[in-house]
Amino acid sequence: MDAVPRHLFVPEHLRGSAYADRPLPIGEGQTISQPYIVARMSELLALKATDSVLEIGTGSGYQTAVLASLSASVSSIELLPSLSERAKKVLDGLGYKNIETKIGDGFFGWEERAPFDAILVTAAAPKIPEPLWRQLREGGRLVMPLGEERKLQRLIRARKSAGQPVIEDFSEVLFVPLRGAIQKRSR
Ligand code: SAH
Repeated sequence: MDAVPRHLFVPEHLRGSAYADRPLPIGEGQTISQPYIVARMSELLALKATDSVLEIGTGSGYQTAVLASLSASVSSIELLPSLSERAKKVLDGLGYKNIETKIGDGFFGWEERAPFDAILVTAAAPKIPEPLWRQLREGGRLVMPLGEERKLQRLIRARKSAGQPVIEDFSEVLFVPLRGAIQKRSR
């Protein structure tokens, strides 16, 4: 966490607050997660240096950089083009070679790069998106906030064991909702 310059991932006028332990707005109604939460989710993924990671919700790209420092490769998907483009610029500028970003609905995962050892979803949904579960390798870990929009959600880790999810529940969290296909499905 110390090695990633968080001030480069927040809007210029908020740089003075970049090292406070709190979320900050990054535009388009989205936020860069609080450093504690970034650290906690990264820890729960239990990454090995050889792991291939899928991240849903690139946002600022800060969490992406932290994951890239702990694993072999990170594939990160962001729904909003402006955020994805900005994050890519910052990450390229910092010289990360093991990150690939794309614009799209993370609900569907990244089939061409699957299976993944670890999947992190940084926006809340009422249930684990089915395509993401399929793209998780046996023994792999998926970490995400599970719950409804504007309600407190639970931070969970689902480990794939004989194809089935073994779920651990960690704490209450508050994330922006996962948008796109999942919202149409749950209505
Ligand atoms: N890890 C990021 C968190 C950003 S907040 C950071 O710390 O900067 C969650 C992000 O998920 C937002 O950028 C939002 O636009 C994105 N998002 C929401 N729904 C999505 C979807 N279906 N697919 C991909 N990204 C999505």
